[in-house]
Amino acid sequence: MLSAEELCAQLEATKRRLDEITTEIARNENKMQRSQSRELGLLQAEDLPALFEELTTGLRASYGLQYVTVVLCDPDHDIRHLLLATGSPAQESESLLMVESMTGLAPQYVALQRPWLGPYAGCDHQLLFPGAQNISSVAIIPLQHRRKLIGSINFGSDDIHRFTREHASDFLAHLGVIASYCVENVVNRSRLMRSGFTDVLTGWHNRRYLQVRINEELARAQRDGANLVCLMLDIDHFKSVNDNWGHAAGDAVLIELAQRIESQVRASDVAARYGGEEFVVIMPNTEIAAGVMLAERIRNAIAATPVRLPNDEETAITASIGISGIRPDRDETDLKTLGDSLIARADVALYSAKSGGRNRVVAEDAS
Ligand code: GH3
Ligand code: MG
Ligand code: MG
Repeated sequence: MLSAEELCAQLEATKRRLDEITTEIARNENKMQRSQSRELGLLQAEDLPALFEELTTGLRASYGLQYVTVVLCDPDHDIRHLLLATGSPAQESESLLMVESMTGLAPQYVALQRPWLGPYAGCDHQLLFPGAQNISSVAIIPLQHRRKLIGSINFGSDDIHRFTREHASDFLAHLGVIASYCVENVVNRSRLMRSGFTDVLTGWHNRRYLQVRINEELARAQRDGANLVCLMLDIDHFKSVNDNWGHAAGDAVLIELAQRIESQVRASDVAARYGGEEFVVIMPNTEIAAGVMLAERIRNAIAATPVRLPNDEETAITASIGISGIRPDRDETDLKTLGDSLIARADVALYSAKSGGRNRVVAEDAS
């Protein structure tokens, strides 16, 4: 028989245990709620920059970590191009690493099916956390597509006990599955969006794409203190092609001219079909004089050889080109207006080329 004191003590112990369990449940519930709101944040991200922001800054804040990085395998530079097309200035940063292949980055990648938790080792993990200091423990959470490793989310903590091999990793594994799904979903969605950046007739980029890229290129020019040149090209008397030979012939001329322009521009230039028979080329890191030379080459590539029409007849085509340039001021914040004015000024120069007799290049007056 237990004495009254013993019974009391036992009761106390049971109460304490109950308190502990209640606290534990509350803690888990809290953890669950935070985890749910984190995952909701990921699922709600509508484009690549928003998703990467959630995956890096968002998760770092939510988990109270020193470092969170994301590695993505992007062998065809597909994701990088999609990211570029969104006009995101921070395409790649210390927290977002795009790699050609997953091998060699960290030994844990070799058989990473579930999150790997453990102590930080410089030789193994420094490539996952460029520039990071004082990391003591890490969690490497695999991102997978059809069971194939496509990247990882990497948590770095200055607390050695934060991520250990004994820790349950279910929460993190779940996060990895959700994040993998989100990456795939947003990449697909961006591809779809990007198809909205393409001109169906010529396969060139369209005006919407150009507008996004001009912002991007202006920001880059601003950073580098570089000059940017804009060429606007308009086919001369194009209406008469349609009037004389029909719309299909006009289309064929547009396709042929797009190819002739394309053959002259550099890979770093941004070329787009701006409107009906207007094309724009943005040339980063270029002075007006070099822009004029390229414009002359394009003009000549068009005028030198007649264009063959679908009915096998040939017709001579010429085009007029207007040129404007800009070296964005370092403290200019309204890049959108700057881009609009760059285009508008090229258009004014184009108008001069037209009124000056067509088949010519006119650069804006730099004074
Ligand atoms: P200018 O030398 O002053 O530029 O004369 P233009 O005849 O080229 O100028 P205008 O702007 O009057 O005519 C452009 C024509 O381009 C009118 C439009 O019907 C035609 N056009 C626009 N988009 C397309 C297209 O996708 N296919 C065809 N075939 N024609 C198009
Ligand atoms: Mg026109
Ligand atoms: Mg025209």
